[in-house]
Amino acid sequence: WAKADGKNRWVAYDPERNAREVARFTLSARMPAAVESEEFYVDYQPIVRLSDGAMTGVEALVRWAHPEFGRLGPDRFIGLAEETGLIVALGRWVLREAAGQARRWRDRYGDRAPVVSVNLAARQTQEPDLVADVSTIIAAAGLPPSSIQLELTESAIMGTTGGPLRTLRELADLGIRIAIDDFGTGYSNLAYLRHLPVHAIKLAGSFMEGVGNPHTLDPGDETIVTTLVSLSHALGHQVIAEGVEDSAQADRLREIGCDSAQGWLFAKAGPPGEIERMLDQQLLTAPAQRTR
Ligand code: C2E
Ligand code: MG
Ligand code: MG
Ligand code: MG
Repeated sequence: WAKADGKNRWVAYDPERNAREVARFTLSARMPAAVESEEFYVDYQPIVRLSDGAMTGVEALVRWAHPEFGRLGPDRFIGLAEETGLIVALGRWVLREAAGQARRWRDRYGDRAPVVSVNLAARQTQEPDLVADVSTIIAAAGLPPSSIQLELTESAIMGTTGGPLRTLRELADLGIRIAIDDFGTGYSNLAYLRHLPVHAIKLAGSFMEGVGNPHTLDPGDETIVTTLVSLSHALGHQVIAEGVEDSAQADRLREIGCDSAQGWLFAKAGPPGEIERMLDQQLLTAPAQRTR
C-alpha cells in the first residue's frame, strides 16, 4: 500500500503500474543523452501514387536503438518526449536528419527524388522559433522547400502559437508542403479546413478496414473515405490514404479517386538503402515521364 499524492488517500500498490512508471522514468532520463549520442535513427516508408504506382514520397519515422531495451518504436517515447519537452530537440534532429537524406536523394535522383515527409509534434508547433528553425535546416541542406512536407495532426494545428493560420501560413510561405496527419481521428473542423494552407490530407488508417472489403461490418468507412476525398479535392488538397494493407483496399481507393497511399501493401518503413533499391528498380522499369 502506498499513500497517493501526499493526500490522505490510500491506494493499492499496483506492481504493473509501478513497472510502467519505472520504465517511463528510465526512458525519459536517458533521452537527452540519446539525442546527443545518436541512438535515434530514422526509417522511411514509401508513399505511392495510386494512378501509376510511382513512389513520389516517403515518410520519415523515428526509432530508438536503446542500448538495453533494443529497438523502440515512436509510440514508446514520443509521448514521453512531448511531456518532458525533449521533443523539441528530438524533432529538430529528425528534421535535420531527414533533410540530409532528402539532399542525398536529390543528388542521386534529381526531380524524381521522393518528397520527404516529417512529423511535427504539437509541442513543436508551440515553439516561437519553429519557422526559423525549419527554414534554417532546409536552407542548410540546400533543398528546394517543396521537397519537404511537414505532417501535423489536427490537434497540433489547433494548438499552434499565434493561431494555426499564422504559423501554418509562415511555413507554407517558405514553400514547404503541409499535410494534415491522421485526418478524421481528432475533432475534424471542416469549416477550418477550407482556410488552412495545406497541400495534402492523410486519411487515418482506421478508416481502411471497411474499404474494398465486401465482408466489412462497417460500410460507413467507404462512405467517409469517399466523402473526404471529394471534399478535399474540392478544396484543392491531395489525399493520401494511410495504413493500406491489401490490394482490394488500394483498388477501391484508386476507384474512389484517392491520390496516393502508404502502407504495408507497398512497404514497411525501412532504412534509406531499402528506399533506394525500390526507386532504382522503379526508375529502371518505368523510365522518364514522372511528373508530380
Ligand atoms: P503516423 O505519422 O500516422 O505514421 C504512420 C504509422 O503507421 C507508422 O507507425 C507506420 O509504421 C504505421 N503503418 C504504416 N503502414 C501501416 C499499415 O499498413 N498498417 C498498420 N497497421 N500500420 C502502418 P510508427 O512508425 O510506429 O509511428 C507511429 C507514430 O509515431 C506516427 O504515426 C507519428 O505520429 C509518430 N512519429 C513517428 N516519427 C515521429 C517523429 O519524428 N516526430 C513525431 N512528432 N512523431 C513521430
Ligand atoms: Mg505521420
Ligand atoms: Mg498518420
Ligand atoms: Mg499517428
